[in-house]
Amino acid sequence: MNNKIVITCACTGAETSKELQPALPITPEEVARTAEECRAAGAAILHLHVRDEAGKATQSVARFREAIEAIRRKSDIIIEITTGGAVGDTAEERLRPVIELEPEMASLDCGTVNFGDEYIVNTLPIMRTFAAEFKKRKVRATLECFDLGHVYASQYLIKEGLLEEPYHYGFVLNVPGAVPYSVENLNAFIRALPQGANFTVMGIGRSSLPAQYGAIATGGWIRVGFEDNVYYSKGVLATSNAQLVERAARIAHEAGLTPATPDEVRQYLKLRG
Ligand code: ZN
Repeated sequence: MNNKIVITCACTGAETSKELQPALPITPEEVARTAEECRAAGAAILHLHVRDEAGKATQSVARFREAIEAIRRKSDIIIEITTGGAVGDTAEERLRPVIELEPEMASLDCGTVNFGDEYIVNTLPIMRTFAAEFKKRKVRATLECFDLGHVYASQYLIKEGLLEEPYHYGFVLNVPGAVPYSVENLNAFIRALPQGANFTVMGIGRSSLPAQYGAIATGGWIRVGFEDNVYYSKGVLATSNAQLVERAARIAHEAGLTPATPDEVRQYLKLRG
């Protein structure tokens, strides 16, 4: 994957609302249209959360199935479903869509983290359970690290044979109550990676754009989308997820990089396909 960069779009998330971002995709049809647009703009991976009728985050297998089927009718984008879920979900609820639907990729949170005044619990036993179920089904994990300790915690899973190469990390920086984005903090995470690992940088809120430049400078991959940030620039809402993907692709191009296609990523990350 010389001179390629992988762009993920996290189009919906668990916490963003239509009130905050009117273009937030919620229904399966909206999500599928977003997937198609983001794929055309250069995204290879769609990070997927789903919502119930009231627009509230849910880990309902039926909702995930509907969304995945709608996306598949329109796009070959890789679907990465969340197992982070929303604040308050149990570990069983978070894992169920992976067990039932066996996506190509899914997120795997590598430690407990503050989420503003709330928190999401990921003990090592929970992480082991998740990793074992992923492995059984050949679901590639994005090892989400919100804290430097999480990068180290993930390596217990490697030592215990619960993860297979190539390892793919997601550094989630600037979550309120966790680690702010800075070049120094990003570098500390990178230095702690196991040999040969790939990583995607996710800058939450106003750090989204600096984190994209940080990813490009360090050989990382990019994630954008309304889960992480709803603005295009200070005080100006983005008009769509695709608008954010377009900019990510544009700045990558300026750095001599081309967005990888889903099939290139399937091959590189050895996805089950
Ligand atoms: Zn997510």
